[in-house]
Amino acid sequence: MAKCPLCGATLDWAELIGQMLPMENAREIFSDKDGFMEAFEGFVFKCPSCGEEFYGRNLPTKEAEKVFDLLNEFKGSIDWENKKVRLRLNSLLALDMMLEQWDRKVKG
Ligand SMILES: [Zn+2]
Repeated sequence: MAKCPLCGATLDWAELIGQMLPMENAREIFSDKDGFMEAFEGFVFKCPSCGEEFYGRNLPTKEAEKVFDLLNEFKGSIDWENKKVRLRLNSLLALDMMLEQWDRKVKG
């Protein structure tokens, strides 16, 4: 799971993505994976625990890609009016990772 590179607190992806939603052209960014990853890596996030700022590129890329997929898979995942993410991204990511591990075990 994503952690703050400065204080080590576990970060909530829904909260992180929420910080990106007020961006100009956010709607465009959130419908194009390459554009999203570029914007994500260069975005300055603020840790809700310690208040320090850091770039998105300090967070796991694989999780960011999954987050993009999840947001696009579920209709209405983003509440654009209130600039909030409706999905519990951390739970979905955890579930996804569990299934992947299980899959690997089965395929041995
Ligand atoms: Zn922090």
